[in-house]
Amino acid sequence: MAEIVRLKPTRPCPICGKPSSQAHHPFCSGRCQDIDLNRWLSDAYRIPTNETPEDASKEDEED
Ligand SMILES: [Zn+2]
Repeated sequence: MAEIVRLKPTRPCPICGKPSSQAHHPFCSGRCQDIDLNRWLSDAYRIPTNETPEDASKEDEED
């Protein structure tokens, strides 16, 4: 039951919804990984900001 599955089907990136890459699981790229990290840090430190870390325009550089 608890066998390790090494090759899971790719899940959509929680940031932008693109297929995730194993190198950056569960994100599609390091960029989205950073976005999630920044979001987490921003929430953790409660920094008042109007910036949206999940700017979709930044995610066109995946390839
Ligand atoms: Zn992504």
